[in-house]
Amino acid sequence: MKKGVTIGGIIAVLLLIGAIAFCAWIAPKINEKLAEINDPIPEKPEETNKTLPPVKLPTAKQPQTTSEAERTYLALGNPSSARANPIFSNNYLLINNHYALSYNRSKAIPNWVAWQLTKEDLGGVERQNNFRPDNRLPKNWKNIFPSYYTRSGYNRGHIVPSADRTKSREANSSTFLMTNMTPQTPDLNQGPWEKLERYSRSLARRNNDLFIYSGCYGEKSKLRRTVTVPTNCWKIIVAVSRNSGIDSSTRVIAVDMPNKNGIRDDNWRDYKTSVRNIEQKTGFDFLSVLPKNLQNVLEMRVDSR
Ligand code: MN
Repeated sequence: MKKGVTIGGIIAVLLLIGAIAFCAWIAPKINEKLAEINDPIPEKPEETNKTLPPVKLPTAKQPQTTSEAERTYLALGNPSSARANPIFSNNYLLINNHYALSYNRSKAIPNWVAWQLTKEDLGGVERQNNFRPDNRLPKNWKNIFPSYYTRSGYNRGHIVPSADRTKSREANSSTFLMTNMTPQTPDLNQGPWEKLERYSRSLARRNNDLFIYSGCYGEKSKLRRTVTVPTNCWKIIVAVSRNSGIDSSTRVIAVDMPNKNGIRDDNWRDYKTSVRNIEQKTGFDFLSVLPKNLQNVLEMRVDSR
């Protein structure tokens, strides 16, 4: 009985020593692993940007299919995670070969429209002027006719400008779908808004490939109790020189303009702001495919040229 207890005690002590030895051996290895998990690549935002390779984008080409168009126009991200599913009625993704947009059924205007502008988009086609309802909307949704804007005091304000799509009749015609329209005052539409549109085409002619997001926010009234008249319209232009990628030196122009009269003679530059400011006003996340530190640099800067 006594002997048995002694042997048992020795075995217990040996097991204990073995367990301690095992722990002593495994602990540093576990520690090493934990250190790797807790300490990823050190973050140095400003410095890292300069050493990161530029983010390459799909080379400018004219999309021939919906999936090519999606890759092209949403190359920098889908700002509201819009979906091509009618359940997402206020964030409904519509894509054609010429632009992509998120449509808002309650407002009857787009949340945002995304397109690219390159020198290849600019041709000699005349303005088609065929404003028309967009028959891609689900059949049970109220479709918006050009007449909703008639005698309202507001222009049918293109978000993708007609003049950005002049390489073919089909391309130009696509900009006259009512889902690409928002009520804009004549002074905004034909004033600083149009001046920025002209300026962006001049950048495109000078070998810049532009990635553009644009839309409007706020509500000051409704046309025919249906179409939201926004308080502000905004635009974000990422100007990438041909054959280069996006890095911290890439030019980004952001503007936020009031949808009111009396501003026709204003310079578009009076309305410069940061992308981050537009993100806060709209709740969208722009440039979301870019690394977070690069987004921070590009989105907090206000264009100074
Ligand atoms: Mn962002």
